[in-house]
Amino acid sequence: MIKTRTAVVTGSTSGIGKGIARTLAASGCSIMLNGFGEPAAIEMQRAELAHKLHTQVLYHGADLSNRHECVSLIGAAREQLGSVDNLVNNAGVQHVSPVESFPPDRWHAILAINLTAAFHTIQTALPSMRQRAWGRILNIASTHGLVASVGKAAYVAAKHGLVGLTKVVALETAGSGITCNAICPGWVSTPLVEEQIAAIAKKKNITHEEAARDMLLEKQPTGAFTTTEQIGALVAFLCTNEASNITGASLPIDGGWLAQ
Ligand code: NAD
Repeated sequence: MIKTRTAVVTGSTSGIGKGIARTLAASGCSIMLNGFGEPAAIEMQRAELAHKLHTQVLYHGADLSNRHECVSLIGAAREQLGSVDNLVNNAGVQHVSPVESFPPDRWHAILAINLTAAFHTIQTALPSMRQRAWGRILNIASTHGLVASVGKAAYVAAKHGLVGLTKVVALETAGSGITCNAICPGWVSTPLVEEQIAAIAKKKNITHEEAARDMLLEKQPTGAFTTTEQIGALVAFLCTNEASNITGASLPIDGGWLAQ
């Protein structure tokens, strides 16, 4: 059972974050959504979750590439939900290009959103977690937090950094009722990955389905995408009392990618 009742899920207007927010809301958490998108679509998502799952669901549009907005997101959640018991750092972006031609502005954006934002939200959320002697911090890293792939210099650097940050926070909070873990998904069918599939299809002049199959077979032995529901279920477990002794871990959910 999830004992505590509030969660901030960054980047929860799409893909993995949307799935995590749904699962935590279904487990009884009040939720602060965050991320970009059409205001009407976000409001529909917010209202649908609140109505169907009978829980409080709010939205904050912080741009996490900006420290003040990271701080403001956590402050707003604490004020409006009463606490931040579970913090899921999920927002992320990708850019694929060889290192020699990697655009410096993309490097900075990826590091800011995929790594530095988690530092800011954790730093802001920790004092009140310590006061309440409870906290669950989940950083959505990637298999790319543990191994590399060509063309992903910034993403791999950021995700390896996020795994490192996870370990330090776990050590600094050990024994305080707070845990900090990284989740390392392999391929998940979301807009972030669909873009990469489309690029492969174009480059190889094959269909989208063929490109998706090639992408899976290259890395993910099960040949199946990890689903957002599977990641949501893992996050929900890590937010329970029963998971209180799992901390500092980097947990793959990757169809065997890292077993090779
Ligand atoms: P997605 O593109 O579907 O969703 C990304 C979310 O982040 C969106 O809600 C978007 O609005 C939000 N976001 C982007 N920039 C932001 C900013 N500056 N401020 C606030 N929100 C911002 O992507 P996804 O595939 O669901 O990815 C979610 C996380 O999972 C990312 O950290 C990604 O690296 C990680 N991940 C994805 C996969 C995969 O195969 N899809 C695999 C491993 C890890």
